[in-house]
Amino acid sequence: MNDDPNFRPDAFRDECGVFGIFGDSEAANLAYLGLHALQHRGQEGAGIAASDGKLIRAFRGRGLVGDVFGGEELANLMGHMALGHVRYSTAGEGSIRNVQPFVVRYRDGQMGVAHNGNLVNASILREELEEQGSIFATSSDTEVILHLVAGSTQGTFINRLVDGLMRVEGAYSLVLMTEQTMVAVRDPWGFRPLVLGRRGSAWVVASETCALGLIDAEFVREVEPGEMVIVDHDGIQSLKPFPRRPRRACVFEHIYFARPDSTVFGRSVYDNRIQLGRILAEENPVEADVVIPVPDSGVPGALGYSQYSGVDYALGLIRSHYVGRTFIEPSQQIRDFGVKLKLAPIRSVIDGKRVVVVDDSLVRGTTLRKVVRMLRQNGAQEIHLRITAPPTVSSCYYGVDTPTKDELIATRMGVSDICEYLGADSLSYISLAGLRRAEGEDQGRFCEACFTGDYPVDPRPDRLHRQMPLFVDGQDSEES
Ligand code: SF4
Repeated sequence: MNDDPNFRPDAFRDECGVFGIFGDSEAANLAYLGLHALQHRGQEGAGIAASDGKLIRAFRGRGLVGDVFGGEELANLMGHMALGHVRYSTAGEGSIRNVQPFVVRYRDGQMGVAHNGNLVNASILREELEEQGSIFATSSDTEVILHLVAGSTQGTFINRLVDGLMRVEGAYSLVLMTEQTMVAVRDPWGFRPLVLGRRGSAWVVASETCALGLIDAEFVREVEPGEMVIVDHDGIQSLKPFPRRPRRACVFEHIYFARPDSTVFGRSVYDNRIQLGRILAEENPVEADVVIPVPDSGVPGALGYSQYSGVDYALGLIRSHYVGRTFIEPSQQIRDFGVKLKLAPIRSVIDGKRVVVVDDSLVRGTTLRKVVRMLRQNGAQEIHLRITAPPTVSSCYYGVDTPTKDELIATRMGVSDICEYLGADSLSYISLAGLRRAEGEDQGRFCEACFTGDYPVDPRPDRLHRQMPLFVDGQDSEES
């Protein structure tokens, strides 16, 4: 049984979150707070590296930010600059060696890195580097970047970084540091978010604006796709050294990953999800008495559905936020209780009603099946499932942990068969056109590969590579 307290087998799993701050004597403490705001992006491990201008010190651990760091650990992270990372890993390879930021020493000193994304050619690059004598300490694709930078023949750290990143393909939002410089970089496609903020005279970068808000930093702007922002004691500068690419931001950030109070890719995540719910209602109306969300991520979509349809909104399911790690026998009989640990029905909302249930995505179908059963047991007369994403038919190779294509229910069954499997009276998804409409004037600038199979960056280099298992212990490479 999965022991992640936030594990939702019916959802794509979160990826990673990065944070960086330059120019504040409380840098490590502020990074710690920023990581709390980004906790939804990764719960397997957390780390902070800080520099006082001469030495980079780091502390990393498995678990939630609040569990990893105490006052003593933070007090040891002295300096005006800090990087932070929260991490999600594939099951079984959550060892401490893969928790970021990675900090290494090479011929010019120290450097640290925190990465959100996934490099699609990391295995190939790793084999080349190992043939040249590199010795890897982790199973993460991120370490490839450090080796490329350290091995570059260019003269400065920035030139080495550009040189190294020219060789990688895929998704990266990175924050790096040397003893004296912080660098934020976003891949030319802009898959993963990265924003720039200001807190007094300090500069801040973070995966999402919610991390800026928590430390009273002002949002300045996005780090642009293909942009490198360099911050040191001389100030801030921006470079765009990479070939331009069409923008392909991850549309799932708006559907599910990002926190609703964040502004991501220039749009309010909350507003976007309300709009998805409204379009879903317009496309898929049904006679009903009440609209309920699968909490928490289905809440804005259900509100939007209710607003457009005029059907009352209510909380028919309550989510427990206090479920710790569950180490119980993985037999089916016991596992069925798992969903009840996390979701509890409110009978008075459901009993005798025709219920619309709104969720953000339908991946394997296991959770929704149990939710439907729970609602029936509590007197629901009809159950109509409405999903604010189109059917997920392809895996992600850009930094999100997704089931294999075979495990995605929409690749194996049509909508009516899925509806029957789930035990619902009807099932509808938002259309791809509806999803695009919700993005307004930005439509066409998003990656939608998990709904279309149309990958902006060829995900195959590593998959076709004969040395694929190189990365570790019989497991695929790590998303970061
Ligand atoms: Fe996002 Fe899906 Fe594209 Fe991955 S494949 S980047 S989850 S839209």
